[in-house]
Amino acid sequence: MHCPFCRHPDSRVIDSRTSDDGLSIRRRRQCPECGGRFSTIETASLNVIKRSGVIEPFSREKVMSGVRKACQGRPVTDADLAVLAQKVEEAVRQTGSSQIDTNEIGLAILGPLRELDEVAFLRFASVYQAFDSLEDFESSIEQLRADRERRLHAVPGE
Ligand SMILES: [Zn+2]
Repeated sequence: MHCPFCRHPDSRVIDSRTSDDGLSIRRRRQCPECGGRFSTIETASLNVIKRSGVIEPFSREKVMSGVRKACQGRPVTDADLAVLAQKVEEAVRQTGSSQIDTNEIGLAILGPLRELDEVAFLRFASVYQAFDSLEDFESSIEQLRADRERRLHAVPGE
């Protein structure tokens, strides 16, 4: 890493800190030539392959705007969406691949969105899982009901 002050081709790491979400590392560096100090932030690259074949960097903003449409009229705040986008990023990074397609992002959204708002989840799922009949909605709703029952009857500690 070049020193941004004197362009010396080397620098020394004097401190490394992992961000709270564990997705990036911030390093304090010092130039052995001029003594200048600077920081670098390191994140693993994560790219999204769009349906058109275009590759672009993963963006939490895009996840949020995609989900926001499904949340229209629902009690979901931007802060909720930000938390959801972070969960989605963590989930896709955990797969260990540096390139994912938009469909995988859609699938990673389903779980956290379902916890957030069931109606928004159904709207989103109907698009991403390409529901093409009322039966698709019915089976999805039945699944939600069954899980809700299970939660209601779950005994804490078991
Ligand atoms: Zn320097």
